[in-house]
Amino acid sequence: MTLALTPNVKSRPCAICANPLDRVPKAARINICLRCAFVTNVIQKTAAGAVAQAVKTGRMPRARERLCVDCARPASDYDHREYSKPLAVEPVCRRCNLRRGPALDLYALARSRLHRVS
Ligand SMILES: [Zn+2]
Ligand SMILES: [Zn+2]
Repeated sequence: MTLALTPNVKSRPCAICANPLDRVPKAARINICLRCAFVTNVIQKTAAGAVAQAVKTGRMPRARERLCVDCARPASDYDHREYSKPLAVEPVCRRCNLRRGPALDLYALARSRLHRVS
């Protein structure tokens, strides 16, 4: 049996590298390709690791000890607005973190990394 691609599904470009998306277009939320998803994941993990290290060494209080800067409820996470500044974070609750979305420079950082490896 051959896998027939539905011809009327228009392939969208990756929001980072502009290559056609290699993932199931049904998942409307997905707008980046697997390769870029890997790169953004590394960037996010690296930034989160820097914050975790700062908390561990006592340079920063834990997010749970602070209040969400957006709604003043207890915070659950530190949110990055710029991953290029890994320690410039704000405490936010889960809901506000989701609403904020990814850091502003995530796609730009990922793009610059792609250029470096290719
Ligand atoms: Zn891509
Ligand atoms: Zn909040």
